[in-house]
Amino acid sequence: MTNQIDRNGLVDRFWERKPLKTLSAHEWEALCDGCGKCCLNKLEDEDTGEVALTRVACRLLDDQSCQCAHYETRHSFIPECIVLKPENLDTHAYWMPQTCAYRRLWEGKSLPDWHPLVTGDPDSVHRAGVSVRGMTVSEFDTPLEEWEDYIIEEPV
Ligand code: SF4
Ligand code: SF4
Repeated sequence: MTNQIDRNGLVDRFWERKPLKTLSAHEWEALCDGCGKCCLNKLEDEDTGEVALTRVACRLLDDQSCQCAHYETRHSFIPECIVLKPENLDTHAYWMPQTCAYRRLWEGKSLPDWHPLVTGDPDSVHRAGVSVRGMTVSEFDTPLEEWEDYIIEEPV
């Protein structure tokens, strides 16, 4: 769910003033911190429903920018890629990364100090060591039966 993020022209700390479901499309998109973690492949325990993130990234994720290489046309390649919206956040929040801004706000938490909306600097998510920059492995080179070896502890 990562794209070039436009954080210009927004009301100061809008996420503290408005409920998630009333945000404009611009505000909603700007909440994304650009970490890239939702583009990691996940393993879900069928019995417990627990979700573990792995370092095995979606084939379209750019490991350096942490952005989707073909965001606008990604569904031609990855039809199952989720379009996260206020209306479906209830359904998806459970598998989102613990640091994800959407999940945190949905849980009633604040945005962390390193969030680009707080710092005004898109690189602050990378400096904080929260993004996937430089830590992913290719899903082409990593057979499914090995994904367990790449599980990461959150928050990373
Ligand atoms: S297609 Fe892959 S890289 Fe692109 S937004 Fe979806 S999960 Fe992320
Ligand atoms: S995990 Fe959340 S904050 Fe990070 S890239 Fe995905 S949608 Fe954005």
